Amino acid sequence: MDYLKFKRLLLKRQDEIKNSLLQLNQAGQTVELDQAMMGRLSRMDAMQGQEMAKASKQRAELELKKIDAALTRIDNNEYGYCVKCDEQISEKRLEFDPTALFCIDCAN
Ligand SMILES: [Zn+2]
Repeated sequence: MDYLKFKRLLLKRQDEIKNSLLQLNQAGQTVELDQAMMGRLSRMDAMQGQEMAKASKQRAELELKKIDAALTRIDNNEYGYCVKCDEQISEKRLEFDPTALFCIDCAN
C-alpha cells in the first residue's frame, strides 16, 4: 500500500481543518463584539449562529484527533490494519476515509 499517498491526504485534510477552525474562532469573536449593538431578535440569531459554530468546531476538533491518530499509525507501521480483527483495510475504503480504524466487516 502507498502509505505516503495517505499521509499526504491526511496532512492536506489536517491543514484544511486547521484553517476552518481559525475561521470559526474568528467568527465566534465577531459575534460577541456585535452583540451589544443588536436587537433582541438578531441577538437570538447570533446565539444560534454561535451554537452552530461551536458544533462545527467540536466536529473539526474530533476530526483532527482522528487524523493525528492515523498519522501516528502510519509512523508506527500500523496504518491500514483493522484495530479489531487485524485484517487489512481496503485501499478504496481508506481513500474514502483515510482515518478509518475498522475494516468494512467490523464497521458494519
Ligand atoms: Zn476488522
